[in-house]
Amino acid sequence: MGQMLSDALTRLETVCEEQGNFKEAHLRLKYPAETLSATIPVRRDDGSLLLVKAWRCRYNRLRGPTKGGIRFHKSVTMDEVMTLGFWMTIKTAIADVPFGGAKGGAQIDASELSRRELEALSRGYIRAFSGMIGPERDIPAPDVATGGQPIAWMADEYFHLIDGQRPDVITGKPLAFFGSKGRNAATGKGAAICLDTLEDRLPFSLKGASFTVQGFGNAGAEIAKDLCDRGMVLVAASDSRATVSNPEGLDADALAEHKSKTGSVKDFDGAETTDRNAIVTLETDLFVPAALGGVITRDNVSEVKARAILEVANGPVEPEADDALEDMGVVVIPDVLANAGGVIVSWYEWLQNRAGDYWPEEEVTSRLEKQMRIAAKAVSDLAKEDTHLRKAAYELAIRRIADSVEVLGSQA
Ligand code: GLU
Repeated sequence: MGQMLSDALTRLETVCEEQGNFKEAHLRLKYPAETLSATIPVRRDDGSLLLVKAWRCRYNRLRGPTKGGIRFHKSVTMDEVMTLGFWMTIKTAIADVPFGGAKGGAQIDASELSRRELEALSRGYIRAFSGMIGPERDIPAPDVATGGQPIAWMADEYFHLIDGQRPDVITGKPLAFFGSKGRNAATGKGAAICLDTLEDRLPFSLKGASFTVQGFGNAGAEIAKDLCDRGMVLVAASDSRATVSNPEGLDADALAEHKSKTGSVKDFDGAETTDRNAIVTLETDLFVPAALGGVITRDNVSEVKARAILEVANGPVEPEADDALEDMGVVVIPDVLANAGGVIVSWYEWLQNRAGDYWPEEEVTSRLEKQMRIAAKAVSDLAKEDTHLRKAAYELAIRRIADSVEVLGSQA
């Protein structure tokens, strides 16, 4: 087993040990159910041939068909894909959507590919894993660098393979191709609702509080807008190129527009531009990591100045830094709860695809709001006076998975 997965499993282990319970469910979650690796050939525009390493892991299917995104990033490994599949298993249980967990990835820097090459990779990915995925088996979705367009190509490739149309095979599709209203905004919106529900656990009230966002992409820009609407002040934001900050506040809408025009937050009018990593240790009430994992580590945790962290990215805090943050009194709203809005609305998209009936945006938003509040409240109730929301979130997940184990018995 890889280091990343074994580190991630320690959080579950701690909860099971402290509770002295969940023996079989814990054992089931120690190993992924099935993992497939493939090499995908991509013909480059210059005629050369590129071979891309890729994986898909169905981590656990006890609560339903497996579900989870596909990421294209140069740092993707099999260990990372398995870890993300484990987190999806925990996340779907907390959000109470009827899915198990899965994840996929390809080890490539998607920004180096042309549009045609990206299409070849997206279609190649589906061909490589066509035996694994399916509308009632394993349902992929977007993750890092696969939003919208790649997902449409993937769905279309699956339609070709089965010589039919099963839009419920993959979620996060564009609106013009079997998508759901509200899916794009779902992760950011869900995180904002989650924060709002947990306001009484924070050392500050939301109105007037400052916040910083790492990763001003789809989820990051959305959460920035939602938190500004709730009266919070965006004091800094970053992307892969720079951090921009202004203690008086940044206009989230104008920044999103600047980013879509120029490709980066860099040099935004009225803001100071600094190094992209500066964002992690800035003075702020709330830090919102919404990019990649592993940004707060044992080495830099003591420099964190935020009073609370809302984990919109998957795995932004390394398990080794958990205790230090708790000792520092930083309230952490964990990824497996905070970013569940994405998979919740993925479930709604899947339901709409299966029914062939499409919901108005208000219906998606009001259902998301209700479901997210229930999940956040359940975690908060389990945590009681304890500040460690991550432990409570894992406890809620293992309880639900243990219920399935008990119903199904040992042959499942
Ligand atoms: N990639 C997203 C996540 O990490 C969404 C997964 C999905 O919608 O299935 O939660």
